Amino acid sequence: MSTEKHTFTAEVKELLNLMVHSLYSQKDIFLRELVSNSSDALDKLRVEGLSDPKLLPEGDLEIRLEADPEARTLAISDNGIGMTREEVVRDIGTIARSGSREFLDALKAKQGAGDAKQDAGDAGTAAATADLIGQFGVGFYSTFMVADRVTLTTRRAGTDTAVRWESTGDGTYTLDEAARPQAGTTVELHLKPADEEDGRRDYTDSFVLREIVKKHSDFVAHPIRMKVERQEPVLDNTGQPVKGMLPKTVVEDETFNSMKAIWTRPRSEVTDAEYNEFYRHLSHDWHDPLATIPAAMEGAFNARILLFIPPKAPFDLYHRERITKGVQLYVKRVHIMDDWKALLPEWLRFLKGVIDCEDLSLNVSREILQHDRQVKSIRNFAIKKTLEAIGKLRKDKPESMRGFWREFGAVLKEGLATDGEHRDRLLDLVLCATTHGDEPTSLADYVERMKDGQEHIYYLGGTSLDAVRHSPHLESFARQGIEVLFFADPVDEFWLERELTYKDKKFVSVSKGEVDLGTGEAEDEKKDAAERPQLDGLLQTLRTHLQDDVKEVRVSGRLTDSPACLVGDQDDLSPQLEQMMRQLGQDPPKTKRILEINPDHRFIARLAAIHAENAQSLKLKTYAQLLHGQAILAEGGTLPDPGAYSRVVMEVASEAVTAGAPPPRVDIGTDAPAPSTSQESAP
Ligand code: ADP
Repeated sequence: MSTEKHTFTAEVKELLNLMVHSLYSQKDIFLRELVSNSSDALDKLRVEGLSDPKLLPEGDLEIRLEADPEARTLAISDNGIGMTREEVVRDIGTIARSGSREFLDALKAKQGAGDAKQDAGDAGTAAATADLIGQFGVGFYSTFMVADRVTLTTRRAGTDTAVRWESTGDGTYTLDEAARPQAGTTVELHLKPADEEDGRRDYTDSFVLREIVKKHSDFVAHPIRMKVERQEPVLDNTGQPVKGMLPKTVVEDETFNSMKAIWTRPRSEVTDAEYNEFYRHLSHDWHDPLATIPAAMEGAFNARILLFIPPKAPFDLYHRERITKGVQLYVKRVHIMDDWKALLPEWLRFLKGVIDCEDLSLNVSREILQHDRQVKSIRNFAIKKTLEAIGKLRKDKPESMRGFWREFGAVLKEGLATDGEHRDRLLDLVLCATTHGDEPTSLADYVERMKDGQEHIYYLGGTSLDAVRHSPHLESFARQGIEVLFFADPVDEFWLERELTYKDKKFVSVSKGEVDLGTGEAEDEKKDAAERPQLDGLLQTLRTHLQDDVKEVRVSGRLTDSPACLVGDQDDLSPQLEQMMRQLGQDPPKTKRILEINPDHRFIARLAAIHAENAQSLKLKTYAQLLHGQAILAEGGTLPDPGAYSRVVMEVASEAVTAGAPPPRVDIGTDAPAPSTSQESAP
């Protein structure tokens, strides 16, 4: 066969032209593309070799790099499946792959849009390409970003003729017969001069090549080897360097990639120690992971995930922008990016590991990832597996689960606020403090313990566990032995705001609405109520005195020991949420709350007596303010005006000490005021 000259199809011409003039800054990726093609070719040969072992080479299946700094060439060879002449014409000369076609279509659409606005010249085209190269697999053609001539020599395994393809990326290529002792493919690049500014490094330098391989192809399952020169001192018979002798140059084969694609191996074949070592390598952690999640997704899309839950939260868990190294995306064992955000929801940002997709383009971009159907289903798979693993932790290792929850519970709960799709599974994992003992409980255990006739899941939100544990809102629940859950993480305010059920039980805040415990004790309460003093008048007076602060004053069904508490209506913003919204720069309307008073408390009884005697008594105003402030403090809230409140407290306290003090001694003879003789002694 003499040299044949072929013309590229119009599409390839277009693509080549774009590549040559590309502004795409990550020129290094050409090597990743070639290594990946070679790795595929080796995989294919390995498969064919299963039924026809004669096809397999004598040595290892491998990828070789060979550089010649003088001639400025770099060759990437494999002893894989190779291509027939027809395959070369079909696969290298045209754009058969849908990826490239889509690339061109997208490019045209983009240029069309650009043209409409302004006449996009070459620079416009190049910029558009730079954008798009990141989104589509343009594989082999990316070589023209770094080379001005590319030669591909290949021989299909099982045949004995080789073919040589060559192009300068101008619009034509040539095909020749060639000699090649072994099956496989060699791509030889005649490199453009290195130009750091243009993103082209010296690709004949083994340091540069090693670094690119380590960065992008470390876990490729076949060895990527290169003969590397090393200077070695000349040693005498005692093993000491001989003085005055120049070191000798040793050429040695070096494998650049570690090939440890641990996630592609079935779980049964990998030891825990190996997983742990990989975790430490990825995370730079000293400790073992709390849980290891290896899983394979098979079907329409194929992917392998290997995720780890760290034992401790990193210090920057709440600085989302700073977390860059979390879960890495690989495509066919080639590292693509570290951006966990496209692969996992923010509420799983504590995970470390690898997601390796079989069917994605190597050049996939963040933008594509965000909208890709395949990525979506892989993401859901990863979420499902992670939640299952946490569920297993809960079941089998309660102590580890509590540790996990301490470190990451608040982050996981962000999912309850933002991700309706996984809410039920997340609720299954929630642990929370409770009135029932010191250990946190799961919701399932809570429901299990619910009293006969109890319809709802009762909870109390607040700013700290200490504050909620001692809140007056719990009193009648405690008396009736009804368990109440505590939620004191700031994120709780966001998900508890929603109408929420777990196992068909509604979440009901004990600090909202009227309390109806539904335990058959309401009748007793009514009976008690008949024996109480009439409070209507006092309620009205308190309403008048507190009208700026509360929207209602009513008799409480939830207090046993405290004189009063503040509650909200079912749809009201909680004070914590209101405060949080203010901190976030929003301006929610001020929500007035409801003051509930305990008719059985002696302070209230005394107020009723004062009111019966003199409904206009000024003291009632002071006592109303005292009661309101005390209710805020009792639930761990913040007084709107602490100065004013402390004056009220001091006024009442002074009166109390004065009332209880012995009569002044006559012999002192001062003109100190006589103690109050008022009937209205303080309580
Ligand atoms: P992609 O790898 O995304 O399919 P490329 O343009 O890089 O696109 O390669 C086109 C095709 O050429 C490949 O699908 C493969 O069939 C063939 N090919 C490329 N490199 C090799 C190789 N080293 N060995 C065998 N076939 C190859």
